[in-house]
Amino acid sequence: MNSGQQTNKRIVILGGGTAGWITANALISHWSDKGIDITLVESPEIGTVGVGEGSTPRLKLFFDAIGVEESEWMPKCNATYKNGISFADWSTRPGFERYFHPFGAQLDRHTLTAFYFHTHARRQGVDVPAHPDRFFLTAKLAANRQGPKPNDNFPFFVEYGYHFDAHLVGEFLRERAKALNVKHLQAKVSEVKQASNGDISSLLTDAGDTIEGDFFIDCSGFRGTLIQQSLQVPFRSFAENLYNDSAVVLPTDQVADIGSETVSTAMKYGWAWEIPLTHRIGNGYVYCSSFCSPDEAETELRTALGLLDSDTEARHLKMKVGRVEKHWHKNCLAVGLSQGFIEPLEATALNLVCNTVYDFIDTIESEGFEDRGRDGFNERTNQAFEKIRDYIVAHYIMNTRKDTEYWRQNGANKNVPDTLRQILQIWKAGQNLGQEMERLQIESSYSAMSWYCLLSGYGFYPDIRPTPADNTAASQFNMTEIDEFVRRCSMNFRSQNEQLRF
Ligand SMILES: Cc1cc2nc3c(=O)[nH]c(=O)nc-3n(C[C@H](O)[C@H](O)[C@H](O)COP(=O)(O)OP(=O)(O)OC[C@H]3O[C@@H](n4cnc5c(N)ncnc54)[C@H](O)[C@@H]3O)c2cc1C
Repeated sequence: MNSGQQTNKRIVILGGGTAGWITANALISHWSDKGIDITLVESPEIGTVGVGEGSTPRLKLFFDAIGVEESEWMPKCNATYKNGISFADWSTRPGFERYFHPFGAQLDRHTLTAFYFHTHARRQGVDVPAHPDRFFLTAKLAANRQGPKPNDNFPFFVEYGYHFDAHLVGEFLRERAKALNVKHLQAKVSEVKQASNGDISSLLTDAGDTIEGDFFIDCSGFRGTLIQQSLQVPFRSFAENLYNDSAVVLPTDQVADIGSETVSTAMKYGWAWEIPLTHRIGNGYVYCSSFCSPDEAETELRTALGLLDSDTEARHLKMKVGRVEKHWHKNCLAVGLSQGFIEPLEATALNLVCNTVYDFIDTIESEGFEDRGRDGFNERTNQAFEKIRDYIVAHYIMNTRKDTEYWRQNGANKNVPDTLRQILQIWKAGQNLGQEMERLQIESSYSAMSWYCLLSGYGFYPDIRPTPADNTAASQFNMTEIDEFVRRCSMNFRSQNEQLRF
């Protein structure tokens, strides 16, 4: 489809969760001049998954792309700014019980050399400070509950994500899409009709309506009504190296100074998130049901939150972790939980939603709606899932907890994906991770910086050797100067609370 070309396609989106409404907004914003007709059908009876409250910086690019200002959507969605994620209690190595995975800042380039140098020296057994937190601006901002937006007189770029109420984001995007002429139907789809070539031809609702379309987008959540159930695209589970399959969710009250990071704390049988919104804190415990029952998980989370005697109701959820083999099959594209899910440890699901939708738009624009671009698109999307999976699996491989069978089995899991195995070998050999990954053509969704943060953050280092007399490595970078540089930079950022006054 060339620019300016009309398609007159009828696109039907099944599902009005975050994935459905992001897709509808992206398509209508991008193809408003293409004569495209979009209908979104969702069932209030089935409802949405209702979680998914943290993002990567990718969500900012989405809102920028559809032309929505933060001042417009953030207050309506109780959204806050996010500098990154703290991982607490995953490692028992002294000094490494907690670390921060930062979103990047332009100013980090002044401290990155020192960070890489120290981690390299520490991998040789030299006793130098090699925990990531002191080297990154957003780690400091998060620790101080500051927002990531620099003051006007400090023109340096900082990447950031958001925390938000998933229901409210859905509502916001729904109203916007409807204002741009996306048709919205509320009905349960009870039957999917297919043509003789296997394409989907129409959806039948339990109200007796028929929704015809030329192209269908499955945003129906974990059930994958179109892609998995009707088109029978196989699902490839990631359960062999990602054990968690359940979650329990409990909100708590917000505190006076709103935080600017997600906190992920290891629990007995998984981990718990803490996500600060403007009006409440979202908490959830992601765990493996083979090791603990929903009741045990709820009790452990309630105890951690001081809610044992509270009548706040918990929500229990099941998760299906893995991906479909083809995200685009016949005349159907799957987006969101229907195409797959990697557990929410790094809040990557909406990142994948946005990347899937925009890659689809690009592919259609260069290859048209026919099959030509489909295989390449599926290959790229599968790769995107696997690369993120590798990074998430690394957290479980790196954990050093031994307090439950869950952690012992995670630590001893031999199902390490090849790419991850290679990355760990490069690290252990003391080589330059970025250079080696490039040389061996190991592609990752995560930058070398993120890998360095993860591996050093868990204290994945050999024992310290007696310091040699000419220890140039230890004396190369002055940590007092680095601390002072980061501190001075951080003075140019206001608190999260202040940055949320639009
Ligand atoms: C525990 C947990 C934590 C998460 N945390 C994060 C996070 O921090 N960050 C992040 O990015 N993501 C996170 N996610 C993922 C995130 O929640 C989802 O990616 C996101 O909400 C999109 O979901 P969805 O729209 O694909 O599915 P859903 O929200 O389940 O929506 C499915 C839609 O399909 C409709 N539907 C289904 N069947 C029919 C039918 N037959 N007829 C009509 N309508 C139908 C439903 O009514 C609904 O509207 C998390 C997920 C879980 C489970």
